[in-house]
Amino acid sequence: MSTSIQTGNEPASGLKQKQSASTSAVQSGRSVRIGDPVNYKAWVAKAAKQPMVLETVDPGPLGAEDVEVAVDHCGLCHSDLSVWNNDWGISQYPAILGHEVAGRVTAVGPSAKGLQVGQPVGVGWNSASCMHCHQCMSGSHHLCPQVQVTIVGHRGGFATHIRAHWAWAIPLPEKLNFAEAGPLLCGGITVFAPLARFAKPTDRVGIVGIGGLGHMAVKFAAAYGCDVTAFTSSESKFDEAKGFGADHVVSSKDPAAIRKLGGSFDLLISTVNVTLDWDAMIGTLAPNGRLHVVGAVLDPIPVAAFSLILQQRSVSGSPAGSPVAIATMLDFAARHDIAPQTEHFRMSNIHEAFARLQSGKARYRIVLDADF
Ligand SMILES: [Zn+2]
Ligand SMILES: [Zn+2]
Repeated sequence: MSTSIQTGNEPASGLKQKQSASTSAVQSGRSVRIGDPVNYKAWVAKAAKQPMVLETVDPGPLGAEDVEVAVDHCGLCHSDLSVWNNDWGISQYPAILGHEVAGRVTAVGPSAKGLQVGQPVGVGWNSASCMHCHQCMSGSHHLCPQVQVTIVGHRGGFATHIRAHWAWAIPLPEKLNFAEAGPLLCGGITVFAPLARFAKPTDRVGIVGIGGLGHMAVKFAAAYGCDVTAFTSSESKFDEAKGFGADHVVSSKDPAAIRKLGGSFDLLISTVNVTLDWDAMIGTLAPNGRLHVVGAVLDPIPVAAFSLILQQRSVSGSPAGSPVAIATMLDFAARHDIAPQTEHFRMSNIHEAFARLQSGKARYRIVLDADF
């Protein structure tokens, strides 16, 4: 790992020293940066579903443990749309959306560790956590009760700059395609985490929904060596799903085809946010198989106890991943040359990009290129 460029940051430095460093950061701006402090420009939504407007934002002093990142590219995820619309009832306005950032560090707080000005980093769904709770201390920072969602009560990446706690600004491997890295930081880790946790290379894995998340899941599972089946409602995606590495493609609208797959899958990852024939999908699981949900479907998923009990099956879910899981995913993506398939828009065309996402026609992930 890179070394810290802060002078007062030796591992031996005690709490007292750290406290005085963080105090001085606020008072005298000791954070390291290139150039003068700047006001940010950002696309701001004032209320649910209101068109975003370009505004200048005074970010205030940089937190002692935070870093500032100049945004080069930011993916557009379906969750941005959900938060913009307040679909989940958790949105806070004004909202600055965007949580799949690829950028470069422009300032480092005096107590931030491991990052240097100029370094390429990514920021995803979360941008801070408490760093001392049971979950943080055991490496599951993404499950921290105080985890800071990047686009709720925090300024997101459709802006000139974003800030994050140093631990959540993840260094991007050199080999990774920088312009396409953004979608890995949310969509990528969301599907990689359950694969890394539950799948073996010998497994039969089904990926339900071949969109932003699902197409990356197919690529990851194929690179891992799994036998991969893609489920999609859109026949126009059959060939492309095979191009991403799927061994088989099945129409999710074809109950007979799904029934034929009964007892097949060790792991089924659902990336869709619509209601499926859950009974039929669970029926495709092999003994000990698992249905893992990462698509935020709002209606409950009914599960018959016997379909779990008799075949010892599970149903589970997970949100994004920890910083180490993200770094591991980026390393795997770089090693296997995995990148999302994207459509690029200039960030100034943000309204057009959101409309494209809403149309459901994006193939497969939209990335906005900063052009302030
Ligand atoms: Zn996302
Ligand atoms: Zn915590």
